[in-house]
Amino acid sequence: MIGYIVGMLDVPSHKKISITAKTLKRLGGEVYWFERKHNPSQVERQKVWKDLYELGNKIMWTEKDMTGDKQVHGYTTGDKKSPEIVLDEEHINIICREVSPVQDAIDWTPGSDEESARLRVKFNLATTMVHEVMHALWRCRYFPHVEPYYRDTRHAELGFQWEQLMYSGVIEGPTTDRGFPYILSTYQWPEPEDEEDNREALMSHKKWGSGNVPREYAVEMSFIQNFFTLDFWDEVDRYGSSNFFPLKRLGVRTVGKFEYWKSESPTIRGPADPTPQSPDDADERGIINRH
Ligand SMILES: [Zn+2]
Repeated sequence: MIGYIVGMLDVPSHKKISITAKTLKRLGGEVYWFERKHNPSQVERQKVWKDLYELGNKIMWTEKDMTGDKQVHGYTTGDKKSPEIVLDEEHINIICREVSPVQDAIDWTPGSDEESARLRVKFNLATTMVHEVMHALWRCRYFPHVEPYYRDTRHAELGFQWEQLMYSGVIEGPTTDRGFPYILSTYQWPEPEDEEDNREALMSHKKWGSGNVPREYAVEMSFIQNFFTLDFWDEVDRYGSSNFFPLKRLGVRTVGKFEYWKSESPTIRGPADPTPQSPDDADERGIINRH
């Protein structure tokens, strides 16, 4: 992952994306893309560690009640000199102040396990912190310039892009309840979304080839638990980051009715026919794989 940070901060290596005048107007300025630096040199690695170390002295961590904005777990603000990372107070309360992570859970069998839910909050908080550090690294060096795109991804969001590369998807709570009382799930980012929510996208999801059938997979609790064991980190040291990909054994598909950009190019990358193919064993609820 260090190659991702080297590539994202090495602005002279970024390439301009050619866009139409219309897209330029919609996005509000020129946009650039970058790719991971493969096999970064010792000097480049040390530079990243130095950047991270210095960021540690500069950054201000604060917490805020984010009730009502439940899909956001944190954000980064401030300028080059004083970046600030704001985290969801509820998560800090659960981890540091003994607030219950299952307070919102409905009655169900076998019921929400408090300890597991707390581990899910810890995992999510750690992920959110690194996600925001990606924004802060950019902000410290290049604020107020907009973040670059990673390769041909349709959204430029350095935090989610890091999560996508790290976990082979974004790992998130499938409901908006506080404290993740049921499970965590993973989905491909950027997921298809409505034109309305999509003003900053470089191209429509259809043009990008992502279709209109988002898939969401359950993340096994053993995957989350692993992160809190020394054995797991030993494995990561020895065999690398493929350990960070959760298995996708149980999934749900939903079909979205999305509007495409009016300026949609007739050349569509990916499947020309957007009709979803039905996997052999999908049931009427869209469960595509059972174990
Ligand atoms: Zn972000």
